[in-house]
Amino acid sequence: MISEEEAREKILSAVSPLPATEVSLGDVLDRFAATELFAIIPLPPFDNSAMDGYAVVAKSAGKNARLKIVGEQPAGISKDLSLLEGEAVRIFTGAPMPIGGDAVVMQEETQREGDYVLIQAEKISVGDFVRKAGADLAIGQRISKRGDRLRSATLGLLASQGIKSVRVGARARVAIVTTGDELAAPGQQPQPGEIFDSNGLMLASLAAKTGVEVAMPRHCPDNFDTLCTTLRDAVHQDAVIISGGVSVGEHDLVREALREIGAKIDLWRVAVKPGKPFLLGKRDQCLIFGLPGNPVSAFVTFLVFVRPALLQMMGAIDLSLPRANARLTHEIAGDETRPHYFRGELADGAFTVIGRQESHAIFGLARANALLRVRPGARLSAGSEVEVLLID
Ligand code: AMP
Ligand code: MG
Repeated sequence: MISEEEAREKILSAVSPLPATEVSLGDVLDRFAATELFAIIPLPPFDNSAMDGYAVVAKSAGKNARLKIVGEQPAGISKDLSLLEGEAVRIFTGAPMPIGGDAVVMQEETQREGDYVLIQAEKISVGDFVRKAGADLAIGQRISKRGDRLRSATLGLLASQGIKSVRVGARARVAIVTTGDELAAPGQQPQPGEIFDSNGLMLASLAAKTGVEVAMPRHCPDNFDTLCTTLRDAVHQDAVIISGGVSVGEHDLVREALREIGAKIDLWRVAVKPGKPFLLGKRDQCLIFGLPGNPVSAFVTFLVFVRPALLQMMGAIDLSLPRANARLTHEIAGDETRPHYFRGELADGAFTVIGRQESHAIFGLARANALLRVRPGARLSAGSEVEVLLID
């Protein structure tokens, strides 16, 4: 059995990042930049008005000044207007500033008198309501680092640069294989002794949320030949996530089946609670994760071991779950020998363990929004400051 840290290192060093591809901006949300991206045009691209109003020369636009209107500048075209002291140009939000204009008086602080405008603002200073070219973003400034997740606002920024496509890491294709004679699919009639498969959907959705393409959700009974056939097919994907069958019982056939299809088992059993039977294997370029069948173990080992690997495969740099500081509402004693992940609720900065904490108890997990990792042998008292991992 190896430590959680060793397992993580081993897993991440087994990952081969997928090749980058050029993808149109409409399809890169939540994917990872494969290169650094730099501004190619300044933002704003030209000096423009932040208001509907009048462009003026500030020093000639004091309170009660009466300025002659010498033109009108709408947004969307440049009329190349210019402006002297004592003059004003009618201007609209986003319209280019006329040459010589150094401030905008907003419409609400003026009064129009035919070809003239009366300034009612108390004080106009140079730069008022003018958005200067490059003030937000200068040419050459870095927009994103390699490995950054491209978020909605990043897409907005890239679009504002006129960029149509970017290089991003390829999306991993991931097969999900559930195992177990006792499992019935939701919708089927379970026979006595059977339970419904909850991991198939849970793992597929966790994987999808990580940004991968779930290629092949399959169920397999605990039958050696069927398992070999299913796994032989599954390893054509970039990764396979197997639920169940990795423990030590006679019906846990995954390790044997992996050997049979020529996969190498890089690690098996990790000192972590829940999730001890976790397995990592590889066949050619395909990473194979064997997760314990107990739903909470499957969930936790996905987040702790599988998620970072899939992210790294797709070019992400930040592999950690979002974190938050919290105050414990009650005492917690962790496992004596293994890091112990507790499921609980973070609300208003306070963390409370929720529901039964055994590895099959999915009801508590379904109400939890955070995990607390407690070091081996640690005993945390009520009121302790802790850092929790956000799972939603
Ligand atoms: P295993 O890891 O195959 O030994 O399974 C451990 C426990 O998890 C057993 O009680 C199984 O019935 C249960 N289990 C395995 N797979 C699933 C699944 N897909 N959904 C719900 N429970 C499961
Ligand atoms: Mg099983």
